[in-house]
Amino acid sequence: MLHYSCDICGQKLDDRRFVVRLEVFPSFDPEEITEEDLERDNLEEIADIISHMEETGELELEQNSPRKFRYDLCPECRNQFVKDPLALHRPRRIRISDN
Ligand SMILES: [Zn+2]
Repeated sequence: MLHYSCDICGQKLDDRRFVVRLEVFPSFDPEEITEEDLERDNLEEIADIISHMEETGELELEQNSPRKFRYDLCPECRNQFVKDPLALHRPRRIRISDN
């Protein structure tokens, strides 16, 4: 049997487990060429992409590909999550400096 733990607080989960599914995908057709694309300086942009690839080994075009995320939450973290899924209203952490 699989054992789950909460992805936020780390506690072991029993039957009262909540699943969060997130999906990020373009609402436009990434293959579609717009007028704006044609007006842009494509050569320079392609050169940028190639130099970025050479540096990182990553293909930047993949930023358009759909991404799926899945999280398991305990009831307490679920309650916090649904109030503010993107943490827009979470208070910023206050940094205490040493000096
Ligand atoms: Zn939790």
